[in-house]
Amino acid sequence: MVQEIVNAQNEFFATQKTKDVVFRKQFLKQLKQEIIAQEDAICDALYADFKKPKFESLATETQLVLAELGYAIKNIERWSRPEPIETSWTNFPSKDWIQSEPFGKVLIISPWNYPFMLTLAPLVGALAAGNTAVLKPSELSPNTSRIIAKILQNVFPPEYVTVMEGGVETSQALLAEKWEYIFFTGSTRVGKIVYKSAAEQLTPVTLELGGKNPCIVDETASLKLAAKRIVWGKFINAGQTCIAPDYILAHKTVKERFVEELKRYITDFYGSDIQKSPDFARITTKKHYQELKEMLQGESLLFGGNFDDSEKYIEPTLVDEPKMNSQIMEGEIFGPILPIIPYETEEDLHLYISNYGKPLAFYLFSTDKKFQKKLMSRYSYGGGTINDTVVHISNKRLPFGGVGTSGIGGYHGKHSFDLFSHKKSIVKRGNWLDIPLRYAPYKLPDAWVKRFKHLF
Ligand code: NAD
Repeated sequence: MVQEIVNAQNEFFATQKTKDVVFRKQFLKQLKQEIIAQEDAICDALYADFKKPKFESLATETQLVLAELGYAIKNIERWSRPEPIETSWTNFPSKDWIQSEPFGKVLIISPWNYPFMLTLAPLVGALAAGNTAVLKPSELSPNTSRIIAKILQNVFPPEYVTVMEGGVETSQALLAEKWEYIFFTGSTRVGKIVYKSAAEQLTPVTLELGGKNPCIVDETASLKLAAKRIVWGKFINAGQTCIAPDYILAHKTVKERFVEELKRYITDFYGSDIQKSPDFARITTKKHYQELKEMLQGESLLFGGNFDDSEKYIEPTLVDEPKMNSQIMEGEIFGPILPIIPYETEEDLHLYISNYGKPLAFYLFSTDKKFQKKLMSRYSYGGGTINDTVVHISNKRLPFGGVGTSGIGGYHGKHSFDLFSHKKSIVKRGNWLDIPLRYAPYKLPDAWVKRFKHLF
């Protein structure tokens, strides 16, 4: 089956059809129409998978993909045009340009936490750039995986776009094939497996991975607004967001007041019986639910801590000063648990931030401009926000991606188009003049060679 799809996509790509921008645009438009037609069914699937509230499904899944589609449809002609480049005088007469060309067939492997958006958003870029694609959605969000397969079947012939549903074995069978590009979103652990198998074939990759995202609240921060924006960014999708703040470093002089504000906003947003709130999702997988429960053992709680096995429900929970070697501070939490750690000096901050790999996201709440500038430039991270959380993902003009252990490559908007394109450099020489300086027998004195620098 995998072999058949691979062969069919190779043959289809070789027909050159996907190099036609009109062809690409027409399919992107059809995909947009189909998503609009199926939007309610997509939200139902997400609800069935982990009780994702409809507002969140629209705002963080379908509408983000539709925005990507609309932007690509509007700009694809401009993006695809050859880009004229200033010529080098030694090549005179010539015309130089960069031509974006598709790689070929692309493999997209995605996770369960934003199962629709993280499968379809990269697809938009891959198709806008003229590739064919095979998608492997996560088996852990099966209802969403099914609706993705159905939507794409309705729009594309399989030799152009195919969904391969299944678990780890399907992923492994796909990775054993030769691809021209692999786009992976998921854990750092599996990212390494993907990178290794891509290396075997020298396949270029994008790895969108996770990390432990710090969130600093200094003594000058507007505490109410900080708490409101952190509660939103942390507990949306029940904390299963790769760019959610993972832990708070709060200046010791404001920590207590800040915690009170956090508690207030959690209750304001989700009510006093959070399990009954229609606006709070569940943990998607049983394994991760168990891990989250274990993380809470022995910790001192400032808020929350309730759970319900029958629903994989974990209450938004604030943890007070967990030890650095505790389970909760070992790796990415990826759930509705928020540790609050007091700090006093910049060195205290550094101790924590430098203890983990480069995070995917970095957040600072402060009104001190000097401190903002210093901290945002001191650390390396995928992307970040000053005085808010998560929202840097919403500007499609900004590349989204990690660095170091949090990933390789950035996408969204034109960055997606560029990511899925090889940039071909082309020089077209004129024939009416041929400066002989570069040809043997070499006559140019060394000093002239050094002066010219570029002789060809
Ligand atoms: P995961 O790595 O377990 O799974 C992702 C995909 O890889 C799934 O489709 C799965 O079937 C496949 N897979 C699993 N094991 C495999 C193996 N041994 N060989 C080949 N393929 C395999 O990730 P997850 O648990 O679904 O997602 C959570 C992780 O994803 C978190 O670490 C989170 O930070 C990260 N994430 C990152 C981003 C981002 O944009 N950077 C977005 C969402 C999630």
